[in-house]
Amino acid sequence: SLTIGIVGLPNVGKSTLFNALTKNDVLAANYPFATIEPNVGVVGVPDARLTTLAGIFSSERRLPATVDFVDIAGIVRGASEGEGLGNKFLANIRESDAICQVIRAFQDDNVVHVDGRISPKEDIETINTELILADLQTIEKVLPRLEKEARVKKDRQPEVKAVQEAKAVLEEGRTLFSAGVAQGTEQAALLHDLHLLTTKPFLYVFNVDEDELTDESFKDEQRALVAPAEAVFLNAKLEADLAELDEEEALELLQTVGQDEPGLATLARVGFETLGLQTYLTAGPKEARAWTVKKGATAPEAAGVIHTDFQKGFIKAEIISYDDLVDAGSVAEARARGKARMEGKDYVMRDGDVVEFRFNV
Ligand code: GDP
Repeated sequence: SLTIGIVGLPNVGKSTLFNALTKNDVLAANYPFATIEPNVGVVGVPDARLTTLAGIFSSERRLPATVDFVDIAGIVRGASEGEGLGNKFLANIRESDAICQVIRAFQDDNVVHVDGRISPKEDIETINTELILADLQTIEKVLPRLEKEARVKKDRQPEVKAVQEAKAVLEEGRTLFSAGVAQGTEQAALLHDLHLLTTKPFLYVFNVDEDELTDESFKDEQRALVAPAEAVFLNAKLEADLAELDEEEALELLQTVGQDEPGLATLARVGFETLGLQTYLTAGPKEARAWTVKKGATAPEAAGVIHTDFQKGFIKAEIISYDDLVDAGSVAEARARGKARMEGKDYVMRDGDVVEFRFNV
């Protein structure tokens, strides 16, 4: 499955946040025999629709979609020059599908900042500079050869042009993602073989003081720093405390700081979105469940997420939109109202489709 790598300068609250993430690990709760990797936190994406479906189908349990967060410990500054540790750090980022930067905004004289000042803007620049330099090195290694090849093989010219343009963006000190060369675009496809770091989607977590959680003008300033990437605001220490409480106590504590859901829930939702994922739903007496597909996935691809045999033997999918099903109150009534659609192998899944697959075995 797709993963989000968590990076940041020392002492910004990464471990505190990651510990809170692993306490919320849904694998541990739902699959007692699963092997849990120490540096991976699997977090459920909150989805109120599952509660409603579980009510309609009298389901025994609810299984949300999940997002995998990977703790990428290690050096940031100098990584692009480094051998050894620096290389390992960059290799770990390369394996992630999105990059989540934890940025310190909280003030605390007892917690030293590596540069002796609290400045989200400069911290973001410090981290992005390393990633940008690493990408420039990758490009400088291959560009002369690519240019030479393209002189003979004209069909290689679009690729060379894309690499040259990427180089120009990076030389301006910008990430490719912020310049719109994000995964899924034609330009990024031409750059694919280079496995660049900064074409990955970015997402920023601002570890803020509790009173900043409701400070909209402060948050807007930070959002402007990172756009088009998304920003999530949370207090890592508070998240760690919340992870120890039951749901009701957690909500009470959240209300005292003006929040209606834990920051980790927001992070899971934003992370899922950043990875370009969406869900479809299944429900029955055993479970109400959200399954994960890439945006644009077809019905057979969606079936394959449940079981490869479902994809191989796919015949059709009976689909009811979540809202239609809730209005009708039952599958039988939704069918009677003509709200159940039979979709074939070219159907592109929509978020909130409630599905039953028909397949040959
Ligand atoms: P890391 O080096 O980025 O993994 O940072 P840690 O999670 O180890 O945190 C460094 C120090 O900052 C620890 O003493 C934490 O208790 C403290 N810390 C983390 N988050 C917060 C926060 O939101 N507010 C305050 N005041 N301290 C925090």
